[in-house]
Amino acid sequence: MSAQLIDGIALSQKLRAEIAARAAVLTAQGKQPGLAVILVGDDPASHVYVRNKVKGCEDAGFYSLKEQYPADLSEVALLERIAALNADPKIHGILVQMPLPKHINPHKVIEAISTTKDVDGYSVLSAGELMTGLEGFRPCTPYGCMKLIESTGVDLKGKHAVVIGRSNTVGKPMGLLLLQANATVTICHSGTPDLGVFTRQADVVVAAVGRRNVLTADMVKPGAIVIDVGMNRNDEGKLCGDVDFAGVKEVASHITPVPGGVGPMTITMLLMNTVEAAERT
Ligand code: NAP
Repeated sequence: MSAQLIDGIALSQKLRAEIAARAAVLTAQGKQPGLAVILVGDDPASHVYVRNKVKGCEDAGFYSLKEQYPADLSEVALLERIAALNADPKIHGILVQMPLPKHINPHKVIEAISTTKDVDGYSVLSAGELMTGLEGFRPCTPYGCMKLIESTGVDLKGKHAVVIGRSNTVGKPMGLLLLQANATVTICHSGTPDLGVFTRQADVVVAAVGRRNVLTADMVKPGAIVIDVGMNRNDEGKLCGDVDFAGVKEVASHITPVPGGVGPMTITMLLMNTVEAAERT
């Protein structure tokens, strides 16, 4: 059996067209969605991420504000800038690109962003809203994974979902979103002694580790949906995920590729959260 590919690029394009249409309605009402992206320092990967976010905003018809500061920007100055953006009616979402220079406390910075503008969904309050089922912003990568799973048409109710990884930005919110969709959820991590014992029972596996070949064909139940969040480099330096794609695609029913699976969805869900933030004002 060869699994159906879950195409994150195609789904992203479809969702971005919907987002652009919603943005056009808001703009006509004088409420153009606005996203501010703050970059501190010179991390090369961060520059690429920020460029892609700004381009995503522009393509969707958003107002896009990119603020770039030198690595020696003080924490106080950054917090002041966030306070100003919190009060700016043209801005509906604020994103501070991580990682920040060592002298700046990322938790302090995240908590300084108004909850109504926390489109990354990283604040303690946003996490609490997700945990308690209140309306709020879902962290973009797991939110994107949910959309990819939904696109298969498989109802998660009663299914067993196994998440590998328990980070605050991917693994834990992923588990909560799957739980909200009525799946039975298991979260595995580096202390899980035998991953295969759990993954072999799973109807859905989400791998979010950051290590190649964490999930191999012998660890997957035939017909499972496999979502690969990982971003790693193979021996040839090419981008690859956590899943042994060639082997697992022969066992799974649906699988995301890397690249072209979860990756494109993350910025799309950031745009979705921003348009939702503007609609709520
Ligand atoms: P992270 O903060 O490093 O968390 C990794 C998690 O994997 C941890 O919970 C860790 O367990 C667990 N882990 C490590 N080794 C393991 C093993 N051998 N077996 C089982 N679990 C293991 O990483 P992250 O931020 O969640 O990101 C995970 C991956 O997704 C990375 O490759 C990252 O680049 C990628 N990512 C992609 C996107 C995208 O847009 N495509 C977005 C975000 C992240 P402990 O908690 O016990 O240490």
